[in-house]
Amino acid sequence: MAIAVRTLDEGAWVNVENTRIVGVSNVWKLARHGICDCDVSFFVVEVFTDVGVDGRWVEARTGGQCIGCGEHGTTGWLQIGKMGEDSFRPVEVEGVHSPR
Ligand SMILES: [Zn+2]
Repeated sequence: MAIAVRTLDEGAWVNVENTRIVGVSNVWKLARHGICDCDVSFFVVEVFTDVGVDGRWVEARTGGQCIGCGEHGTTGWLQIGKMGEDSFRPVEVEGVHSPR
């Protein structure tokens, strides 16, 4: 199954099947992230640099800043959501995420 994904507005949004799924300015709690020395980074996403599909999962790489220590960086692939049988289910941004 092909899933149509792209970024919009110069990386301000991730668009899946013509729906804006997630935008910048959210704070993502990241574990095992490699951006800074914080155990869990509270990472403000400033741009989505890449989007991709891995099976049913939609993933994105992001650039932004850890508000704990001020470090800027780019994440590995973060899972944004999963295509179900008939609809796309975004992840809960409030949870803890581990890029790969
Ligand atoms: Zn940090």
